Amino acid sequence: MSNWPTQAKWDGPIVMVGFGSIGRGTLPLILRHIACDHSRITIIDPSDASKHIADKHGIRFLKEGLTRGNYRKMLKPLLTAGPGPAFVVNLSVDVGSLDIMRLADETNALYIDTVIEPWPGFYYNSKLDNAARSNYVMREGLLALKRKLGSGPTAVSCCGANPGMVSWFVKQALVDIARDTRLKFQHPESREDWALLMQRLGVKGIHIAERDTQRAKSPKPLDCFINTWSVEGFISEGLQPAELGWGTHEKRLPPEGRRHKSGSGAAIYLERPGANTRVLSWVPTAGPQFGFLVTHNEAISIADYFTVRKGAKAVYRPTCHYAYHPSNDAVLSWHEMLGAGGKRQSQNHILEEDEIVDGMDELGVLLYGHKKNAYWYGSQLSIDEARKLAPYQNATGMQVTSAVLAGMVWAIENPDAGIVETDEMDYRRCLEVQKPYLGPVTGVYTKWTPLDSHGSLFKEGLDKRDPWQFSNILVR
Ligand code: NAD
Repeated sequence: MSNWPTQAKWDGPIVMVGFGSIGRGTLPLILRHIACDHSRITIIDPSDASKHIADKHGIRFLKEGLTRGNYRKMLKPLLTAGPGPAFVVNLSVDVGSLDIMRLADETNALYIDTVIEPWPGFYYNSKLDNAARSNYVMREGLLALKRKLGSGPTAVSCCGANPGMVSWFVKQALVDIARDTRLKFQHPESREDWALLMQRLGVKGIHIAERDTQRAKSPKPLDCFINTWSVEGFISEGLQPAELGWGTHEKRLPPEGRRHKSGSGAAIYLERPGANTRVLSWVPTAGPQFGFLVTHNEAISIADYFTVRKGAKAVYRPTCHYAYHPSNDAVLSWHEMLGAGGKRQSQNHILEEDEIVDGMDELGVLLYGHKKNAYWYGSQLSIDEARKLAPYQNATGMQVTSAVLAGMVWAIENPDAGIVETDEMDYRRCLEVQKPYLGPVTGVYTKWTPLDSHGSLFKEGLDKRDPWQFSNILVR
């Protein structure tokens, strides 16, 4: 596409915190789709590894790291420089999302991030128990802040590919299944309506089902953790406990499964790291596959959003979790690291677009347990197509950065919504902005169930009456 549309206009400052793989890829999309004064954009990052990209576009770059102690002093002058309110685009690791959201609220700035990120000292704190290191607890903190701040400048939480875009895919997938099963329904307008639609369709659960087949030109060397996006981000979440939204159809907690003592009750956690917890899942190209049950905010927010309650009791909720087959190099990297007792490799590396030979990131949602068994809806973006669409990113990155763009456009169009999760946003508008960057976006039905992946041997303990019990999905 050469005539890229301007999607929104922004007069105030834009402050991007973090200029790693996602920040670098987001910048050209902002410049392309949001009419703004480039001299009012500032990037803050303690590493100047990508400063040359900012320089090339004439964007101011501050080589600084935000800390608990300095973030107000650093950010406040930038956020209040005018004219009009600022927009904070937080794409960093190790910067506490909630504190930056509070400051954005105080200064009337809009805000977006792609995860709820804590300050350093949370992910690897051995004094915290596993419940306290969960995304559930971090999300409860976000919900408390949302209630406290109420309506105010829009702050979009967790708006990347997943968490983020996949919440929009779930809604589109529901509408598709309703159409294909000839259900009479009105397009849902409220959270309650969406949850009722999912319940009526008989969806038992949702996998965020992803296969990344991007391959590097050179094989992974020993003692190096390779990934197609943040290595820091992946290791921190992979070593959190595995977590999943816990559906009302589930008959029993999995081994090592624990409930939380307070909060929404939408999710459980396992007393084991997500990167060492495998599940059976399915994507269109590879078909049946193993995925890692790495904890993700969307597993909890989607399960919570689609809960139907009678009084205080949840009478319907889907199970929801990530089933992530990362790039082969990342699988090997985990194998190496966990095999060495969790000792980190001495080097990290994120595969850049020019190091990748071929492959795609096939990322979608698999809605299962309904009349047509299971339906995968998602993006199949190849590295070749990603290269043609925009610079400085691979296919994985582009699914994330285009969601950030969509979230920014939505926030500019809805500037006083307070803190929002992506489940609460207009999925049609967001996908309209994002789709040009997603490659083929397709919906595919499959007859596969987890029972098929157990083969004909070792069948003991399987629940043959209900193929979609989590006990059949978890690899034992
Ligand atoms: P990255 O590791 O490539 O980059 C992170 C950047 O943050 C680095 O440039 C680093 O120098 C910078 N940084 C570190 N400490 C900082 C500080 N104190 N102040 C300011 N900047 C600091 O990571 P990435 O791949 O660009 O990912 C960025 C964030 O996006 C991570 O939190 C990651 O988990 C998240 N992410 C979300 C999704 C999604 O789909 N929701 C997908 C990919 C990444």
